[in-house]
Amino acid sequence: MTNAQYPMTNDKMILLNPGPVNLSDRVRNALLNPDLCHREVEFSQLQSRIREQLLQVYDLEGVGVAQPRHRWAAVLLTGSGTAAMEAMVSTLVPRNGKLLVIENGVYGERISKIAKIHDINYITLSHPWDAEIDIKRLIKLLDENADITHLAVVHHETTTGRLNNLVEIAAICQQRRIQILVDAVSSFGAEELNFEDWGITACAATANKCLHGVPGTSFVILRRDALPSADTIPRTLYLDLATYCQQQDKGGTPFTQSVQTFYALAEALQEMAEAGGWRARHSYYSKLANLVRDGLASIGIKPLLPEGSSSVVLNAYYLPDNFSYEEFHDQLKAQDFVIYSGQGNLAKSIFRVSTMGAITQDDMERFVNVVKQII
Ligand SMILES: *Cc1c(COP(=O)(O)O)cnc(C)c1O
Repeated sequence: MTNAQYPMTNDKMILLNPGPVNLSDRVRNALLNPDLCHREVEFSQLQSRIREQLLQVYDLEGVGVAQPRHRWAAVLLTGSGTAAMEAMVSTLVPRNGKLLVIENGVYGERISKIAKIHDINYITLSHPWDAEIDIKRLIKLLDENADITHLAVVHHETTTGRLNNLVEIAAICQQRRIQILVDAVSSFGAEELNFEDWGITACAATANKCLHGVPGTSFVILRRDALPSADTIPRTLYLDLATYCQQQDKGGTPFTQSVQTFYALAEALQEMAEAGGWRARHSYYSKLANLVRDGLASIGIKPLLPEGSSSVVLNAYYLPDNFSYEEFHDQLKAQDFVIYSGQGNLAKSIFRVSTMGAITQDDMERFVNVVKQII
């Protein structure tokens, strides 16, 4: 339906920003499921189903024999990805704990802000935004601070598109029995996350990035034994994961959840499982990202990061000569493509292209051609 008073954006607009993403018809139609009360059994079943589906994305369901299946839990929240990050950090770092936050972009720095606001004892390992995490400095810092109990790191730093080396960082944490908290908001569903082997304690993510759901639902996947004991006074009422987990295990919810976006997430997860799960999504994103990278390289547009450093989800590129970001953005938008600006100091020099969401190879070929025409 269109309405002259509230003109809608062209429904063929291709979103190349890192979420919210273009929805498939299937996911969009799921929003039209029946109205539900969040205290009724139908909601309870929907919520439980999503919790199972989320664990299944990385095969956490069948952990089975040696370790009980209930070692892991997915906890669902109503809120954007930042709500999940804040819930994870504020719930899981105990008052007598000490957190090390690794920063190499906006989202790592956001974790530090969360720690500061909640009065968590923390230190940072900071890097310039375009830098890779310095493992030698990390080890030195951990050696100097033997009281560190938790480490928080962004898996895919969306600021630059860098995929941080979680394997190496996780191994260092495992050796030292440090609990690792991961911001996987822009990688969950498209990049490898080996919870068991890497010894991940928890990860925060969202419905509306690589999972192709609707904004409004986010979640934390956590090891149950990392939750604080029942007599711990939480730092936050609304974002306390212990309360959510306890009530969700019984089919309930402490507060009203965003029912319609739950429907959409259940459908998006089903759609993803049928298409081959995270591995298939990884390959598909990779194909689209390479298509864009090669196409832009052929007209002299260079990536910000060296080959092999980026996720398959998003790449950052230097702006073409003689274009401001605004000009480039507006010309692309006139042709139905929404690109994404750089943040902070990068705002004037780069643009970002994410290939998440229900977009096709044709869409991305057309994108490359439109860029060629424009410049
Ligand atoms: C998108 C994103 C977030 C959360 O952003 P919201 O706007 O709160 O959804 C957090 N971390 C990373 C790495 C992200 O890409």
